[in-house]
Amino acid sequence: MYQSFYYKQLTPPKLKPEGWMYRQLRTQADGLCGNLDKVWPDIKESGWTGGEKEGWERVPYWLDGFIPMAWLLDDSDLKACADKYINAILSRQQEDGWICPCDKEERPRYDIWAAFLICKVLVVYYECTEDARIEQAVYKALKCISRHLEVHTLFDWGASRWFECLIPLGWLYDRHPERWMQDLAVLLRVQGVDYEKLFENWPYRKPQEKGRWNYLTHVVNLSMCLRSDMLYNSFEGRKIGDFAEKALNMLLDYHGMPIGHFSGDECLAGKSPLSGTELCGIVEAMYSYEWLLCGTGGDIWADRLENLAFNALPATISSDMWTHQYDQMSNQIQCSILSPEKTPFLTNSGESHIFGLEPNYGCCTANFGQGWPKLAMSAILLSKKGIAVGAVLPCSASMEIDSTQVYFQIVTDYPFADGYRVIVQTDRPAEFEISLRIPDGAAEAYVDGEKVEGNRCKLQRRWEGKSEINVVFAFEAKLQPQYEDMYYVKRGPLVFSLPVKAQWRKKEFVRDGVERRYPYCDYELYPESAWNFAFADGKFMYNKKNPGIGAFDSQNPPVCLKTTLCPVEWPAENGVAAIRPSSLTPVGPEVEAELVPYGCTDLRMTVMPVAEPYRKEI
Ligand SMILES: [Zn+2]
Repeated sequence: MYQSFYYKQLTPPKLKPEGWMYRQLRTQADGLCGNLDKVWPDIKESGWTGGEKEGWERVPYWLDGFIPMAWLLDDSDLKACADKYINAILSRQQEDGWICPCDKEERPRYDIWAAFLICKVLVVYYECTEDARIEQAVYKALKCISRHLEVHTLFDWGASRWFECLIPLGWLYDRHPERWMQDLAVLLRVQGVDYEKLFENWPYRKPQEKGRWNYLTHVVNLSMCLRSDMLYNSFEGRKIGDFAEKALNMLLDYHGMPIGHFSGDECLAGKSPLSGTELCGIVEAMYSYEWLLCGTGGDIWADRLENLAFNALPATISSDMWTHQYDQMSNQIQCSILSPEKTPFLTNSGESHIFGLEPNYGCCTANFGQGWPKLAMSAILLSKKGIAVGAVLPCSASMEIDSTQVYFQIVTDYPFADGYRVIVQTDRPAEFEISLRIPDGAAEAYVDGEKVEGNRCKLQRRWEGKSEINVVFAFEAKLQPQYEDMYYVKRGPLVFSLPVKAQWRKKEFVRDGVERRYPYCDYELYPESAWNFAFADGKFMYNKKNPGIGAFDSQNPPVCLKTTLCPVEWPAENGVAAIRPSSLTPVGPEVEAELVPYGCTDLRMTVMPVAEPYRKEI
């Protein structure tokens, strides 16, 4: 399956996060993800480890991020915790290979999406540890799934996410191919949702009707399905087609948000700045783009990955990474609990945008942890000719290329700096290619002072001793059209927003036996600064503010854009801004404002019109 891939990821211990990437992972480990087994019953007392609580997707979701985080940080306590869970899961695997925690008579009604997920997690664990028990456990579990599907067809989540099983199946097939594995791949494809057909006849061009939940417009299923076609085609040894590109363009055309993702609260919700999008959808779309980058080599997937990682992901998780939202909004002026009839969300509850332990539903609580660790593994990629820079992140790696020991390091504060330095060191002279990525949207780019064109600069050289390469690019901040005649600002991979000062009101309580207590409590956020503005002349001055501080800290954004805004009449109801202002005529003098990266905001205005006196100039 992987032989045809353009790139191969490096995993820990070969790969090491550095700089802000390391700090982000450390914050995650010190926050909710690193402590979920101590504070959340669905992990602490899970059915997967013999407890009475949830025995389906939550432990596998959590381990999927927790394991790579533990090994990237090389943290012995976290590794010991992951080992404990994997040992408990392996020890409970049944004689016939069944690996999920349910009794034999419950199996026909058990949604085996969780079985796909745990097999995928076991592969992640193997990649970090090379534990010899894993291959046999995955073999037995997948064989059991293939027998199960002959009599119990896929339904619900298993049918929507059938392709996830191809990840462990492809891994196993590459190691020891057997005929039944090909048959299982076909069975999954035939019993699962045909996304190719769905997008050929795409009926979902409007927001989902309020209150009508649907598997086919479900934002997480759609984020995941972007990897379906490439997984199936590469398993079958066929060329990867353009399904993902076409499907994503369709989703963005009708439901796109400034963050480069589509809305879904939790089904497709259109382009309004009040539409929400779910955290699980963000991390699953990132994971799709990571696969697509490696499978196709298309740099567009690295750009899309960075868009989500540098904007949507940090914005919807608090700076201390103890709390998160279920749904984030482009224009989010207050995050307070709303009654069902007052929520702007189509099928999510009125608490979906508060920051908390498990607002609306606990899937994101378990699943969000995969975002940062998997991103780190997309930075330094092995190509058939040498080494390629994928997502631009501070990381280093030690590897062997044609019997030569190679150390490769990316030194950067990007996306808060406009460039990066590569350090490469070999233990003996060796010839291979280093492929440098230039992010999309760079007005110009230079490698060691020489101007380069396009998204890649490939250096095929004989590398000897220690070398350094300097990559510099230039970005311009520009207004981009978004919804009706409203705009947002983007500079390189970063979307900028007007930050609204937030008062965090702590809420500690127990509901259904789940305790919210500081630091894993809920918060409502109320605005303490004005937000009712329109853009003025559309000119932006880029400034560095707090270089070297935590990457996505809402108290200390590292960079800003200075601009002029005009106050306008823009009403709000129940803490939700109207879709647009009631008039574009300024109601007071212009103000000098600082826009900050969307990912460094808690409350914000992102999508705004241009005020009346300037409309002709834009
Ligand atoms: Zn979720």
